[in-house]
Amino acid sequence: MSPAINRQIVLNSRPRGEPTLHDFRLEEQAIPEPGDGQVLSRTIYLSLDPYMRGRMNEGPSYVPPIALGGVMGGGTVSRVVASRHPSFKVGDLVSSFNGWQDYALSDGSDLNLIDSRLAQPSLALSLLGMTGFTAYHGLLNIGKPQAGETVVVASATGAVGSVVGQIAKLKGTRAVGIAGGAEKCRYAVDVLGFDVCIDHRAPDFAAQLAAATPDGIDVYFENVGGAVFEAVLPLLNINARVPVCGLIAHYNATELPAGPNLVPQLMSRVLTRRILIQGFIIADHFATGFAAFQRDMSPWVAEGKVQMREAFVDGLEQAPQALIDLLAGRHFGKVVVNVNPL
Ligand code: NDP
Repeated sequence: MSPAINRQIVLNSRPRGEPTLHDFRLEEQAIPEPGDGQVLSRTIYLSLDPYMRGRMNEGPSYVPPIALGGVMGGGTVSRVVASRHPSFKVGDLVSSFNGWQDYALSDGSDLNLIDSRLAQPSLALSLLGMTGFTAYHGLLNIGKPQAGETVVVASATGAVGSVVGQIAKLKGTRAVGIAGGAEKCRYAVDVLGFDVCIDHRAPDFAAQLAAATPDGIDVYFENVGGAVFEAVLPLLNINARVPVCGLIAHYNATELPAGPNLVPQLMSRVLTRRILIQGFIIADHFATGFAAFQRDMSPWVAEGKVQMREAFVDGLEQAPQALIDLLAGRHFGKVVVNVNPL
């Protein structure tokens, strides 16, 4: 049954540090009517992603922040329920940006039809969508791994990291994962195919990482920052590449960490080892790179060469706690909220 109202989760207050449930508020609005050229769609799956934490902050970033009282943004899979747009009809399944709500209007520019034969449409949010593309672009276009090189991946069982590791293996590299805890590390090796995985919570993590990379590190896929990067830095080889995808260890930080200023040491390494460190924002690359990604990834998925573990959360009202848990590392795999039935 479709809801007769539009439930929305809005930003109630800006978090200081870790978000709390109080920072979110559930509201109910009338379901909007599409005007000429518009599409109304009902959200089925909502993707939860670490970048959402950044949008809760005030101040400049690579996209404007969510306004106080504004609906939390987010990628979705949704079903068209009313259309006055020539390219979309009722019943179509689309990838969309409905955000944290049951229904949203669109002018169609942000909608993409999902192949009705896709057995698992939620994968349009992960393996076959933004997450998979992030892994593919960062690793192949910036990391440029060569067969036989050592690729180290932070948050190796996370949504992005798990795909990076699997592609790194397809490219013939030695893939070393970094993950939190024995269960995730076992999964990284047994299921994702990493050659080895190191627990970043182990007291001797840095020593274990050094032992696991006897030939140094050629590509480090950065998802995390913090203590993990500090352990990686001394191990980077001459001409190493570091795609900087995310820094989740810092997203809840309210001030700089205490301790010595490591910038001179970092820059000295970058210089003497000729290291390439390059950040990227995947939204910049859809127009030029998404088609190539789809060409490569679709057969990999169909042939079972790349897979995605999904962590489903039932109900829109559970999204705030699920985002808090995601940031704290309490989920295992790509976090997807079941908002309405398929
Ligand atoms: P993940 O699934 O990797 O994020 C959650 C995981 O991060 C947790 O399960 C935890 O894994 C790990 N983590 C959290 N805090 C720490 C910490 N202090 N130290 C080490 N690990 C930590 O999320 P995604 O795969 O969706 O995203 C990965 C990164 O990529 C994020 O930083 C995200 O912001 C970024 N990103 C960037 C994009 C871009 O365009 N540049 C696009 C998409 C994502 P564990 O239990 O193993 O510690």
